Amino acid sequence: PDSGKSKKDIKTFRETHLGKTLSLSFKEPLKIVRGKGTYLYDELGTPYLDMVNNVCHVGHCHPKVVAAGQAQMAKLNTNTRFLHDNLVTYAEKLLATMPEPLSVCMFVNSGSEANELAFRLAKNYTGSEELLTVEGAYHGNTNACINASPYKFDGPGGEGAKKYVHQVMLPDPYRGKFTGNSLISAQAYAEDVQRVITGLGAQDKKPGMFICESLQGVAGQIIMPVGYLQSVYSMIRDAGGVCIADEVQVGFGRVGSHMWAFETQNVVPDIVTLGKPIGNGHPMAAVITTQAIADAFVTGMEYFNTFGGNPVSCAIGQAVLEVIQEEKLMDNALETGKYLQQELEKLQQVYEVIGDIRGLGLFIGVELVVDRTSKEPATEFTEQLIECLKAQQIILSTEGKFHNILKIKPPMVFNKTDADIFIKALKYGFELLIKQL
Ligand code: PMP
Repeated sequence: PDSGKSKKDIKTFRETHLGKTLSLSFKEPLKIVRGKGTYLYDELGTPYLDMVNNVCHVGHCHPKVVAAGQAQMAKLNTNTRFLHDNLVTYAEKLLATMPEPLSVCMFVNSGSEANELAFRLAKNYTGSEELLTVEGAYHGNTNACINASPYKFDGPGGEGAKKYVHQVMLPDPYRGKFTGNSLISAQAYAEDVQRVITGLGAQDKKPGMFICESLQGVAGQIIMPVGYLQSVYSMIRDAGGVCIADEVQVGFGRVGSHMWAFETQNVVPDIVTLGKPIGNGHPMAAVITTQAIADAFVTGMEYFNTFGGNPVSCAIGQAVLEVIQEEKLMDNALETGKYLQQELEKLQQVYEVIGDIRGLGLFIGVELVVDRTSKEPATEFTEQLIECLKAQQIILSTEGKFHNILKIKPPMVFNKTDADIFIKALKYGFELLIKQL
């Protein structure tokens, strides 16, 4: 047991001194003091199965990652103005996972910072700041990232789209205008991008960049119809723009079949942004791009980043890559993800409230509806279900415009036993809550 501050004291201090925009999960927030593998432990030692943390990718406090960070921290931590093995060893290993011609790596400290830099690179290369982004998307917390995130600028407190920002339809095969996962729906959604490009052309403008998560996270745990990115990328490039793949949430083998989620769409982006899982919780991120785009950034203005690429972050990043390989975590994501989806599908046959199940590897969305025909979102039910799962020591949260989608993206060490525990708890939750409906 932990002898630290009381939950009440922490809460009061946060409210008074840490800014009112800081949010907490659950009606009665948890105090978490320790983590190991897929589990988090509260101050009393109660374990919670963590099904949402896609940051502690190879498991909470993985010993190899912790040791790598500790050893380098005790030896040296400085900036990139000195030659150091770690920077190049790590960059080489990371770049080896990327397809040609993605051969330049720039290190930063957060997903927001990675997207921020990606926008600058794209603007310098194309000469256009016109930005296309997908409805409901989130790309980070800086000014430029908020402007690129409909989830924020069109959400509470938002100020709408800036003039240079253009939203395209969310390619959602379940709830969107074009249903089904087919080349036809992919093309229909891609046509909406062409609509924007044509509109820009009519004003003598061209797209500078198209940013899109390779699987939609915040917009609702959505798997885009195959063929969508291929069509869109060629439209954008034909019009003179570049394509940015935001892999901040979905990269590093989460889909199981591939290291990068964009590979499931058979495309090679011009710029890829990485974050969250890259350092297993240590704050680091990266931008990967082509030689040509990186060269266009040489304008005479230095790009300096105090922390990006420091030897500690590089040691940690390298350990993460090694653990993914050594522990065959992509195979696990594929197998466990498939098993979990099959078990969820069994529940779908019993419980009408499950409208849709989609996912790749350990990135799964379960959309809950009041009625399967009207697809009316079961928002309140979902909220109650999350609390009911918490009471059964499972941490899960929701996603999507109507907060009716269970977002499943656990650490990659999540196994079949964990999946069984979750399915049992979910079944209990459905039984309990459906009776109360
Ligand atoms: N892109 C995506 C897709 C994200 O989900 C997030 C964070 N939720 C970000 C960018 C921003 O990353 P960070 O919070 O590390 O700045």
